[in-house]
Amino acid sequence: MSDFGWEKNIRKVVPYTPGEQPEDKDIIKLNTNENPYGPSEELIKKIKELDIDNFRKYPNPAASELVEALADFHGVSKDKVFVGVGSDDVLAMSFMTFFFFFKKILFPDITYSFYPVWADMLGIKYELVPLTEDFEVKAEDYNKENGGIVIPNPNAPTAILMSRDDIISILKNSKDSIVIIDEAYIDFAPEGSSVIDLIDEYDNLVVVRTFSKSRSLAGLRVGYAVSNPMLIKYLNNVKYSYNSYTMNYPSIVLGKSVIKDNDYFKGTINKIIKTRESFSKELKELGFKVLPSSANFVFASHPDVDAVKIFDEAKKKGIYFRYFNAPRINEFLRITIGKDDEMKKVTDFLKDLVTEES
Ligand SMILES: *Cc1c(COP(=O)(O)O)cnc(C)c1O
Repeated sequence: MSDFGWEKNIRKVVPYTPGEQPEDKDIIKLNTNENPYGPSEELIKKIKELDIDNFRKYPNPAASELVEALADFHGVSKDKVFVGVGSDDVLAMSFMTFFFFFKKILFPDITYSFYPVWADMLGIKYELVPLTEDFEVKAEDYNKENGGIVIPNPNAPTAILMSRDDIISILKNSKDSIVIIDEAYIDFAPEGSSVIDLIDEYDNLVVVRTFSKSRSLAGLRVGYAVSNPMLIKYLNNVKYSYNSYTMNYPSIVLGKSVIKDNDYFKGTINKIIKTRESFSKELKELGFKVLPSSANFVFASHPDVDAVKIFDEAKKKGIYFRYFNAPRINEFLRITIGKDDEMKKVTDFLKDLVTEES
């Protein structure tokens, strides 16, 4: 027992553990799925043009410029877009708004490890739905009573994409609950994989996106949701009951600019996809099992070399991967796709290690 009388009156939570952000610039940082390519020249120009006087004032609480640019980009009206401080903020607000219910919400047993943290923090009950042996989401398994569903597509940390038909079947089987599809990595998947176009047809669908991965802007903190005007309104009501000024002036202005910068964005995505494919092939040649990736990272394990061993040895060489000490995946490493020269160094390092250990 603690000596402090207030201990029992305080909220105690087990927080999410983000990947390390080391200060050392010389490392090969492949642990948090950041985009290795920096912002475009156009964005750098816009950063230099920021109006200092605007920092004195409160920003526009509705972040209208950014919302309008996103609505334009997706060809929807602006009452179908909600913006937040990264998709983590959008997801936290969505949990608060849509899962205020007595039934359990459902998400995969292996998925973004923030979901159970928000659920616990908000007192939302949940049930983990196991992925198949091949680490796939099986739509039928979600065909049961629930108070909401949240699934990333592609899933993290597996990088595996789910088909639109499977998502549609989940939407149809859970008409009375909100289904959140977290599309953090969808820009790295084949075109036509997103379900944003289904928001009018399925009134229980919320699609969440981020600027952090495909748009190279994890440091700016911009994420958004696209859904029908009713659900967006409910989300905004919760947001304005919590913090009106979530979006700061640079995130509104630069976020808007980045949306218009589509050619640059497509270019870096194509480079990453190309590197992902060649790196996956090389990993397989070294004996790794690599799950089929539709994201900007791969999830891989080696039959002869412990994931922890690889993780530790890599770190000594200044190469950072992500390791999750969790059931079913504790022999896997999640490796973000960096630039070609970085991945070459990673492959050389792994080749040496695997040869030594096997
Ligand atoms: C990275 C990630 C997010 C959060 O990204 P933000 O930087 O907060 O926008 C959300 N969901 C998944 C599955 C992610 O991998």
